[in-house]
Amino acid sequence: GVPVLLHVIFYRSAAAPPSSNFLLLGSSGAGKTAFTSLLEAKSSPASKKSHLTHTSQSSTLVTVGLPPDVPTASNRYRSVNDPSLKETSRNPVRYRVQDTPGHGKLRASQGISQLQAMSHSNDAKIKLRGVLFMVDTAALVDETTLRDSATYLHDVLLILQKRALNKGKSSAKVATEVPVLVAANKQDLFTALPPGSVREKLEAEIDRIRKSKTKGLLDASAGSGVETEDDEVLGNDGGLERFSFKLLEEEVGIKVDVVGGAVKGDPNEELGSGVRRWEEWVGLCL
Ligand code: GDP
Repeated sequence: GVPVLLHVIFYRSAAAPPSSNFLLLGSSGAGKTAFTSLLEAKSSPASKKSHLTHTSQSSTLVTVGLPPDVPTASNRYRSVNDPSLKETSRNPVRYRVQDTPGHGKLRASQGISQLQAMSHSNDAKIKLRGVLFMVDTAALVDETTLRDSATYLHDVLLILQKRALNKGKSSAKVATEVPVLVAANKQDLFTALPPGSVREKLEAEIDRIRKSKTKGLLDASAGSGVETEDDEVLGNDGGLERFSFKLLEEEVGIKVDVVGGAVKGDPNEELGSGVRRWEEWVGLCL
């Protein structure tokens, strides 16, 4: 599949910082366009517009809101009588969702370069709060799809790792790292892998990618007298241990959660109930 980039910008109108940005990344066919269309439909039920046809080459930008009953990090301890909670239901947390189509391999490089720009920016307007990395959990049984997704995720995590480690060296150390949600989509399909196996498969594949990368770096530095930098290897452990998301959290401080969901859920259920847990993840980043 061809990786596609969607650029998700969340911003709060009231108490929270003026803008909270999330990037939505993942291989083509994972369900990113369907997800942004769903968010849009959920936040403006009156206009019932469907954007599910995604043949346009031009970029689309939509504004959506987080459901008022989804807690955010800043309001999760508020009482139900708190007037600011009423304010939130009148004036929900808004996201600006940008779908940025591209051609072929350009899509992945667009996603990566967008991530690089956002993750290194000090501008509050484009401060990155989190990365949503979507996978099609029914397609991951296919080796090529798995390799494609894992390679993309590996590259995304390596960028976030470099950012985290560089920051540690500078004097202006910021405590928060950019968390990653692996949105394990299409859980409605009976062929879908459960989130636990999605996690295992991605970890095992990233481990393989890491091994061959470490070998490449060693070969390149052999006889040159140049030591291999640990931070070039995802996990920052020089590739000594078996890769896991836990290792990444312990060594680098980057948290990766794998959470199941379905953009196209049970038609009998409430619109968007299949993405609720991803919205909760988003809320806790705000
Ligand atoms: P993108 O390339 O990541 O933007 O993927 P799309 O949003 O175009 O989705 C690819 C296909 O997967 C479309 O046919 C969607 O209708 C379908 N799809 C998306 N989410 C789900 C889901 O949760 N379950 C099922 N069964 N199909 C889905």
